This record gives sequence, structure tokens and C-alpha cells, in this order.
Amino acid sequence: MKNSVRLQNVSKHYKESEKTITILDRSNWEINGSNLIAIIGKSGSGKSTLINLISGIDTPNNGSIYIGDTCISELPDEERAIFRRRNVGIVFQFFNLIPTLNVLDNAVLPLRLDGLSNSRCYDLGKNLLNRVGLEDKIFAMPEKLSGGEQQRVAIARSLSNNPEIILADEPTGSLDIETSKEILNLFLETVKSEKKTAIIVTHSDEIINDADEVHILENSKITRIK
Ligand code: ADP
Ligand code: MG
Repeated sequence: MKNSVRLQNVSKHYKESEKTITILDRSNWEINGSNLIAIIGKSGSGKSTLINLISGIDTPNNGSIYIGDTCISELPDEERAIFRRRNVGIVFQFFNLIPTLNVLDNAVLPLRLDGLSNSRCYDLGKNLLNRVGLEDKIFAMPEKLSGGEQQRVAIARSLSNNPEIILADEPTGSLDIETSKEILNLFLETVKSEKKTAIIVTHSDEIINDADEVHILENSKITRIK
């Protein structure tokens, strides 16, 4: 199953001059088949690092990380990037859109990087942007969009490669309350209707209530609490 994630004896630390920051210490963790998984934990506990490890943006110091049957932590950098592009969608707190590309090109970036033709990209991009309610902004540049609209583009982009797994790292952390609700609802509806596995780092009570599983990252371990 492509939508399972497994951490086996994973350690991750950062060395900052004299001191070492330990994020994970021989952690074992598994999720398998649930639709919505919430991850909570104090600021600085390492939630973003965990998301980056699962997506293969970052690698552990020790241990193995599996997405389905693939041990991504063993893949060379370039192959890991390709695996991510084809199998994982990611939504970040600060949207991470490319400022020099318009909305449509941002939404289909993973497909473009994978060599899909202009016309296929255009058709798929229009369709994706329809789903997130941005059909009339496809040629706008990101700087002309509100934060909520930029996050809609990022949600469209996270779906573009039709991944089994979508990772979201505090996707509403930089939005106002009203817009946060709107974006969380869009995110929830989308992952439910598309039957994706979503792993979301959030403080939202609504998501924590709705989630099939809740896990907490603290003291360098991940523990399931729901
Ligand atoms: P969270 O998302 O839970 O707030 P992070 O994963 O961003 O936590 O960071 C956890 C800890 O690791 C913090 O103390 C942070 O300063 C540190 N950290 C994160 N990334 C790096 C890095 N690239 N180099 C050094 N320290 C880092
Ligand atoms: Mg974080």
C-alpha cells in the first residue's frame, strides 16, 4: 500500500555548534490506511522536521523510513526527489509558491517537472484550480493573491500528481481565523472526497476531532493518543 508510512528505529538530530538538538530518538512509528491523521506537539518539538523526513526533503541520522514498500531514506537524493514528486503532495505553512510562475504553472509544477506536455498541464491545471475555486485566477501571479488564495493554489498543487499521501505542515498557520476555517474545510473535503491519506500538523480542535488518528510528538518520540 502506497499510503502507509513506517519509521523504523529513526533518530534525527541537529548539531548547533556545541549543543545537539534531538528531534527523534530511535523512534518506531506506523500509519496504515487511515484517512486523516493529525500530528500535534509543542512548538520546536520537531513536527516540521518529521514532515520533512516523511516527504524525503530531509533524511534521518539513523534508521529507515518507508512509504509503502519503498525505503525512501536509502534512496539517493535525486531518486528521493523523484519519488516525492510522484507519490507525495505537500502543503506548507507559507504556501511555497514560485513567485515567477503564474497560478496555473504553480499548480502543475510537479507534472511539469515530470515532463508532461503543455496542453495536458493546461487541462489538468484548469481542472485542479476549478476544484479549489480559483478558475478565474489561473493566469494571476502569486503576489496578486490573498494568503487564502495562495494556499488554495498549494492545495491544488498537492493534488496534481494524484498522490496517495498528502502532508500538510500547519497549513493555516499564517492565515486569519476566518480564512483558516475556509482552507481547513477545503482541505478536509478534498482529502475525503479523493480518499487520500492526509497527515496534517495542526493545532485546530476541529481537525483533531475529525481525525481518525491523533499522534503527539514529544520528548523525541511519537505516540498515538487517539
Ligand atoms: P516544530 O515544527 O515542531 O516547531 P521544527 O521541526 O521546526 O519544530 O524544529 C525542531 C527543532 O529543531 C527546533 O529547535 C529548531 O530550531 C531545530 N531545527 C530545525 N531545523 C533545523 C536545521 N536545519 N538546523 C538546525 N536546527 C534545526
Ligand atoms: Mg513547524
